[in-house]
Amino acid sequence: MEFNIINPKTKSELLKTIRKEKHFRFGAGCTDLLMELKKNSDEGLTVINLSQVKDAQFNGVKKSAKGIRLGAMLTAHQIVMNEDIKNNFPVLHEAALSLASTQIRQVATIGGNLCTASPSGDMACALVTLEADCEILGANGKARTIPITDFFTGVRKTALKKNEVLYGIFIPSKKKKVKNITSRFIKIGARRSMECSVVSLAYHIQTDETGKIIHAGVAIGASAPTIRFAKSACGFLIGKKFKNISQREKEEFAGKVLSYASPITDIRATAWYRKEVLFNISKAIFE
Ligand SMILES: Cc1cc2nc3c(=O)[nH]c(=O)nc-3n(C[C@H](O)[C@H](O)[C@H](O)COP(=O)(O)OP(=O)(O)OC[C@H]3O[C@@H](n4cnc5c(N)ncnc54)[C@H](O)[C@@H]3O)c2cc1C
Repeated sequence: MEFNIINPKTKSELLKTIRKEKHFRFGAGCTDLLMELKKNSDEGLTVINLSQVKDAQFNGVKKSAKGIRLGAMLTAHQIVMNEDIKNNFPVLHEAALSLASTQIRQVATIGGNLCTASPSGDMACALVTLEADCEILGANGKARTIPITDFFTGVRKTALKKNEVLYGIFIPSKKKKVKNITSRFIKIGARRSMECSVVSLAYHIQTDETGKIIHAGVAIGASAPTIRFAKSACGFLIGKKFKNISQREKEEFAGKVLSYASPITDIRATAWYRKEVLFNISKAIFE
């Protein structure tokens, strides 16, 4: 495995490097990239190391009345430690905490988790649930923003163009009149750590003071070529009382979630098993 490394130190150095280099890949925490390059070496490759870029928007968190903006270079560890995320978006806190191991979480970034576009990406699944937007920076310094569901275009494929870098992620804040949030990340894997999901379910459900559901986000991971937002399952919940969902309604909800799944059989699990698990964990979120 041989490659050149360039270490831009500022945003303008980064953009200049992107404009100059012809055959390159970005490296953030490099936890995925190095595994990939070990398997398939790429002659003459330059890795543009993003981890040395000093830029508050790339590395920081900014809260506003509209929501919270996360720099793409925030690590899973930084996400876990952030109190705003823990209190307002528990699904993302839990997803970051479930990623790999303590050591990997120190370097693995949220941007890398999105850009690697694995169907089992944990933070990516939570961000789909939260209906986040992706802020993408072009080599000319211009930014464009797209909904996260448009960001994933296939297995390990994204909407990023060759000369674009993921710069930040924006999560909209809770709806008006919200009294309670039920927000969880459920990861089913063969082991508790160092294991990618066999199936995952992320949900972020907002209720008013009467317990009525006024907004719902539900996403599934490792169940289709891309992480999927279960729109009809979310719509089904609106107006219902979270604590009064009947058995029949739980099953109808789980069936709607399942309709977004088209899993494969691989060495980790069969398609049948993934569907069974997904149906059962979906049904159980109200218990
Ligand atoms: C042992 C092990 C266990 C793991 N367990 C889990 C797990 O439990 N859950 C999970 O979700 N993942 C897991 N992973 C995968 C990986 O750690 C995560 O996906 C991680 O978040 C990737 O982030 P990174 O910063 O290391 O990305 P990198 O490896 O640096 O990059 C990944 C890809 O994204 C591109 N990229 C990175 N940042 C940007 C950017 N800002 N703009 C444009 N392109 C970019 C790179 O070019 C590369 O193609 C595991 C990996 C290993 C090795």
